[in-house]
Amino acid sequence: MYILGIETTCDETGLGLIEVKENRVKIIDNQLSSQVKIHQPYGGVVPILAAREHEKNLPFLFKRIKNSFELEKVDYLAFSVGPGLLPSLLAGKKFIQELAKNLNKKVIPVNHLSAHWYSVLIRKKTQQWQKFITINFPALVLVVSGGHTTLYVFKSWNERRKIGETVDDAAGECLDKCARALGLGYPGGPEIERRAKMAKKFFSLPKPLLQKGYQFSFAGLKTAFIDLVSQIKKYGKLDEGTVNDLCASLQKTIFEIIIYKMKKASRDFKVKTLIVSGGVSANQTFKRMFKKAMPEIPIYFPQKSLATDNGINIALAGYFNLSSAVEVDKIEVFPR
Ligand code: AMP
Ligand code: MG
Repeated sequence: MYILGIETTCDETGLGLIEVKENRVKIIDNQLSSQVKIHQPYGGVVPILAAREHEKNLPFLFKRIKNSFELEKVDYLAFSVGPGLLPSLLAGKKFIQELAKNLNKKVIPVNHLSAHWYSVLIRKKTQQWQKFITINFPALVLVVSGGHTTLYVFKSWNERRKIGETVDDAAGECLDKCARALGLGYPGGPEIERRAKMAKKFFSLPKPLLQKGYQFSFAGLKTAFIDLVSQIKKYGKLDEGTVNDLCASLQKTIFEIIIYKMKKASRDFKVKTLIVSGGVSANQTFKRMFKKAMPEIPIYFPQKSLATDNGINIALAGYFNLSSAVEVDKIEVFPR
C-alpha cells in the first residue's frame, strides 16, 4: 500500500511517500522545504509568511515526486490537520483538497503529535524495506518540539493518557528564544547544541516546577536566562567562550528537567519502553543523558532527519489510522 503524507502545520513544507506491506515499510520519496532562511531575520516563525511559502512550495515538491512515481498508485493521502498555525494549515488544506479530487483518493486526517511518536518506528532513512520496531507497552512517550512538550503513557498504540505538558513555553521554543537573546538566529536548538560542545563551565539556572508532577514550565527559565545574558553584557563581556558556556548550561538545564520527570514517570507507571520524539530529540547530548539516566529501559528516538517536521511521519501516522480516512470535503483543520 502507498501513502502520501503532507505536512504544513508550521514552517516546514513536507511531502513524504511510503510503501507499507504487513509490518514492513519503505521510504519512496521524502521532499522537504525548510523556511528557516525566511523566518531567520524575525527570530521565529511569521505565520503569514509561512503560509505563503507553503503555497509556493507544495506544487513544486509535488512535481518532484510526480516525476519519478505514478501517483495513481497511491492508496491514501494523509494530511496533518493540527495542531499548528492556522494560515499554514489552511494553505495545506487548499492543496490537499485539489489533490484528493484530482486523484480521487480518500484523506486520512493526522494529528501532528502522533506523527512525531510514530516516527521512532523507522530505523533507517535509506529507501530499503525495513521492519517496524516492536514496542513493548506500557510506554512513556514524550513529544518535545518547537510547539510542544507533552508526556503520555501508552497502554497500546490506541490507548493513551496525557499525563503532563508545558504550562507555558515548549522546550524547543525556550531554546529558540534564548538563542535569539544571544543573537544566534533561528532555529536555536542546533546552534546551541553545536556551541555547547565547546563549553568550559556551567552557569546555574532555575528549574521551575521540578517537583510538581509531570507538568513542565520553561518560561521562567527563559526569563532567568535572558536576565543573565543582560547582566553579563552590563558587567562583563559576552565573548564566544561565554556564549558557549551559556548554551551548554541552558540545554543541560532543560534536559535535566525533562529527564527528571520522565524518570519519575517511568517508575510511577512501570513502563517498559521510552519514546522521545520531536525536533529537540535530534540533540545528541540529550540522547546520551537519557541513556545514562535510565540504562535499564529501552529508549527509542527518531533518526535525525525524521525528528523535525516532515511528510514521511505524516504518511506513517496515516498508515496507523487508516480507518479514519474520509472524503476530502470532511477534512477540517485544528490549530489547537
Ligand atoms: P519541530 O517543531 O518538531 O519541527 O522541531 C523544531 C524545534 O526543534 C525547534 O525549536 C528547534 O530549535 C529544535 N531543535 C532542532 N534540532 C535540535 C537540536 N539538535 N537540539 C535541540 N533542539 C533542536
Ligand atoms: Mg512538530
